[in-house]
Amino acid sequence: MYLMILGAPGSGKGTQGTLIAEHLGIAEVSTGALLRAAVKQGTPLGLEAKRFMDQGLLVPDQVILSLIRGILDSKEAARGVLMDGFPRTVPQATAVDQILKDRKAQVDMVLLLEVAEDELVTRLLARAAKEGRSDDNLESIKQRLKVYHDQTAPLVAYYDQQGVVSRIPGMGNVDEIQARVRDAVGGKA
Ligand code: ADP
Repeated sequence: MYLMILGAPGSGKGTQGTLIAEHLGIAEVSTGALLRAAVKQGTPLGLEAKRFMDQGLLVPDQVILSLIRGILDSKEAARGVLMDGFPRTVPQATAVDQILKDRKAQVDMVLLLEVAEDELVTRLLARAAKEGRSDDNLESIKQRLKVYHDQTAPLVAYYDQQGVVSRIPGMGNVDEIQARVRDAVGGKA
């Protein structure tokens, strides 16, 4: 089973993704978390990615796709994967479609977390105060929201064409939202 969780920065992809992956017993892959780990370790990948991340820009598609290929080839991914923060561009989505097709698989479901813009900014600023992520400052937040609208939001139409999008209202508390996510996935899992 291949699930994607899609939404703007601050929409709760990480929180909800971890919970639903655990519930389904499948691996979760967060490209943002993988990149942050690489930055922390100071690997060549991390050094390259950091420049983009701190500015609120996307890391180049080729870098992300080689990460994803490695993961889809791993043993942990054998039962399926929940992808959080990937794909983020139409080229990433078409590339992963092809990779899955080569394995006689496809994207089964895209969970779209919908949250109002002013709430996103509030959440990201609160996270900045708590976690100190270097890209959670107002300038980078605005840039990430713009990048989301310009480059990632078009994926909704892309996946709507495949008929796999499930829209989840992302306002409320974590448990309420998780209940909606489980309902949405219920028919498929
Ligand atoms: P958020 O959704 O709050 O921005 P993420 O952890 O998903 O948090 O992403 C943080 C940063 O990591 C992004 O701003 C981007 O620079 C980089 N990144 C994560 N996933 C991708 C991806 N699929 N393609 C390109 N860049 C990515």
